[in-house]
Amino acid sequence: MLTDQYTTPQQVLAIYAHPDDAEFFAGGTIARWASEGANIILVLVTSGDKGSGDRDLTWQQLREIREAETRAAAAQLGISKVIFMRWRDGELMPSMAMRRAFVRFIRLYRPDAVLSSDPSTRWRDDRRLNHPDHWIVASEVMSAVYPAARDHLNFPELLYDEGLEPHITPFLYMSLSRQPNLRIITTDFQAQKLRALAEHRSQVGDDLARLQERLARYADEELSSTSNTPQFAEYFRLISLD
Ligand SMILES: [Zn+2]
Repeated sequence: MLTDQYTTPQQVLAIYAHPDDAEFFAGGTIARWASEGANIILVLVTSGDKGSGDRDLTWQQLREIREAETRAAAAQLGISKVIFMRWRDGELMPSMAMRRAFVRFIRLYRPDAVLSSDPSTRWRDDRRLNHPDHWIVASEVMSAVYPAARDHLNFPELLYDEGLEPHITPFLYMSLSRQPNLRIITTDFQAQKLRALAEHRSQVGDDLARLQERLARYADEELSSTSNTPQFAEYFRLISLD
């Protein structure tokens, strides 16, 4: 059942694989939550160091460019902190090391909402596969939220060496889901999402009008059918664990 009903979280930990994922998949929602007072921390597992066709760029240079773009985009959306894990783009595998890293962030920042993707989405539709980094990160996020961050005997050194208490995250929001149960209306934040995406110049280029046109194709059909102007929404699978 699809609903519009949810409570704006106060402390959000967003965990994504690549620099522009949060903006593309949930940029309107992040901007909306920030405007409603949420503190939003973004963790990026990779810095997108393979995302270029420019043969004159080294991966280290690309990483630097993409981290700068990410910081600028995060500022546009009202994200308060960006953490770069700097694992290599395109080389992620499900692992206990990744799960431990996410458990550590959850216990450290104690979010009431974790935002990532749906790990069951291996392909997006008949024409698009999902990038493996997306569902691999999402899979370890899910395992970190439950049960690993909750139970102190998982990664006990986090408690005994760092004093990080176990934490139950009440809400897991998964973008890119093929079975969404929540629609968040983001029309008022579409301009902000566009500005944030425009900061990722290495990916979207300099043509703002073209980007705007591309985003306009994703106007929400149902919402727009009863309005004179295009309406936008982002869809999630929300799991409530409280
Ligand atoms: Zn991505």
